[in-house]
Amino acid sequence: MEIRFDGRVAIVTGAGNGLGRAHALALASRGAKVVVNDLGGSGNGAGRSSAVAEAVADEILRAGGEAIADGADISDEGQVRDMVATAMAHWGRVDILVNNAGITRDKSFGKMDMADFRKVLDVHLVGTTLCTQAVWNVMREQGYGRIVLTSSTSGLYGAFAQAAYASAKAGMLGLMNVLHIEGAKHGIRVNLLAPWAATRLTAGLLPQEALDLMGPDTVTPGVLYLVSENAPARVILSAGSGCFARIRLLESDAVFFPPEGRTPEMIAARFDEISSAAGQREVTDTFDQNSYLVRKAAAGLGIASPL
Ligand code: NAD
Repeated sequence: MEIRFDGRVAIVTGAGNGLGRAHALALASRGAKVVVNDLGGSGNGAGRSSAVAEAVADEILRAGGEAIADGADISDEGQVRDMVATAMAHWGRVDILVNNAGITRDKSFGKMDMADFRKVLDVHLVGTTLCTQAVWNVMREQGYGRIVLTSSTSGLYGAFAQAAYASAKAGMLGLMNVLHIEGAKHGIRVNLLAPWAATRLTAGLLPQEALDLMGPDTVTPGVLYLVSENAPARVILSAGSGCFARIRLLESDAVFFPPEGRTPEMIAARFDEISSAAGQREVTDTFDQNSYLVRKAAAGLGIASPL
């Protein structure tokens, strides 16, 4: 069945360039009314201009869609609140939030400036949190919301010179897990995107032949699925070059050590067994994991499990 967004209102942050622009255009082409947010700075967050957001909003309007340009800095609470208020004043609801805006300030860890670290966390993690919190109660009251947090394989797997960026992007995993737990009963589904695309942030990092395969539009169909009516929830979707994969966090089957054998030497001796992929599983939340350990310990001790 065709996925459509007629009657839905979407906010896409950082939609003046790159991935956000592709997401905004695609949402609008399938019927969504779109707030095209972009501060319009450089790739490292310097400067400001309303031109890029306006250009994308104009493109949507010229194609017969509905859009509003918005120049809010997503790391500024007041500006974010105003952005959501504008969407509400025009269209009366917010159904979709694609947190996409971001910057890079790469430096190897020893040379990293803490001011850059704070700035990168402020834009990515705090900015994403501010935008999400500003729409949260609107979505709760509607009983409907679809939120994507744009993370990165850098945060999930690591990348040279990206301590700040990776920390911010990994923080989004924790945010998604909690928002999923708190939002599910209100019809809010939250997912994490780990994209890879040729944009100004990746210009020059790869040969042109590789960049030619990875335009932003090769990622966008995954985002549209994640914000659709029948979207999954608490999914980490890796997307790039037209390839889509699901990333999972798995915990190996816990090995119980009885009190008399609970030494660092015993851990060392059985570390292969502790690390074994056999029996590994996906955990649903922290209580699920903690109670599993208690049950395992009780079984190891031959007593009834208190949980
Ligand atoms: P981009 O620079 O082309 O687009 C990012 C946009 O965000 C820019 O238009 C910028 O002006 C805007 N922006 C930056 N700070 C802002 C702020 N404070 N408020 C509002 N807007 C702001 O970059 P892109 O590659 O399209 O990146 C989009 C997202 O995808 C980012 O979060 C990035 O970290 C993430 N990402 C990209 C890649 C990739 O391969 N390109 C990989 C992993 C993650």
